[in-house]
Amino acid sequence: MTRSRRIWSLVLAFALAVAGGPHEAFAYLKFGVLASGRGVTLRWTQMPVTYYVTDHGVPGVGAADLQAALGRAFATWEALPTASIQYRFGGFTEALPGEDEGLNTLGFRSAPELDRVLASTSFLVDTVTGALLESDIFFNSAFQWSVQSSGQGGRFDLESIALHEIGHMSGLGHSMLGETELQATGGRRVIAAEAVMFPIAFSAGNVSGRTPRADDVAGLSDVYPTGDFTRDKGSLSGRVTKSGQGVFGAHVVAFSPATGLMVANFSLDPQGRFSIAGLSPGPYVVRVEPIDDASVDSFFQASANADVDFRAAYFERLVVVPAGGDSGAIEIEVIPK
Ligand SMILES: [Zn+2]
Repeated sequence: MTRSRRIWSLVLAFALAVAGGPHEAFAYLKFGVLASGRGVTLRWTQMPVTYYVTDHGVPGVGAADLQAALGRAFATWEALPTASIQYRFGGFTEALPGEDEGLNTLGFRSAPELDRVLASTSFLVDTVTGALLESDIFFNSAFQWSVQSSGQGGRFDLESIALHEIGHMSGLGHSMLGETELQATGGRRVIAAEAVMFPIAFSAGNVSGRTPRADDVAGLSDVYPTGDFTRDKGSLSGRVTKSGQGVFGAHVVAFSPATGLMVANFSLDPQGRFSIAGLSPGPYVVRVEPIDDASVDSFFQASANADVDFRAAYFERLVVVPAGGDSGAIEIEVIPK
């Protein structure tokens, strides 16, 4: 395929969304590609999305266990009432994830050199039309895996990691709604995550990543909206500015005092514009914060120059989101650190 190209890195894929330019109404977590000079949201247009599973297991997880755990993760996304995506298991295959054979392939591969990468999703995209041709997910067999219903100490929960990667496969980028702490070993441990699409996994043995949160639901529903979603949910939009200039790469969080739920997005153009879709109608507290210095590359390519030099701030009043409409653009001013 000469006019297609495989995008392996999630960070790169997200950065391409940013390259899509200021004319799109970006919602938080969507991937995009630049095709023939135009930004195109990365999404599947033919349903169901058929996937295949590599017919190889690892210690503790046979090929049938792998397929069953993947099936549960696919079913979880498919069950969201406000999103219309569908998936179908096409069968086992000898193909490996990462090969351009035209099948969406999920399976184990050994990559011991990627000692911090549990799994990764790749896309094959038509660079002329922006159409998504293929997406593969590899699970790194250099780690220990489990499919036990209540988890297993020292082993990563395959279903949780699969849910995150299938989110990518479906067109979602990373969410910043989570907190980590630095460990003595130099790694980071997740303390709390308000999104399955948070870029760092829970520790081995933990199974709390099997359930999408409000931010994930809003993200997938925005890419594959049902009629109910379009009618019943609303959006909150505006600009983040500093000394009169737009701020690129600010994290904007909408928090509902009524439900305690959070949905977030980034300001994604030089004017500092953002849009958070998929919100239940009602009042929201809006908070803006810089990306944590240590994790900028989980969200943007270095060349994108996300601005992290400002203090976190709240918008001065509650913002009311209407059903089926937008809040009307608000401007949130931040000040340098
Ligand atoms: Zn990820």
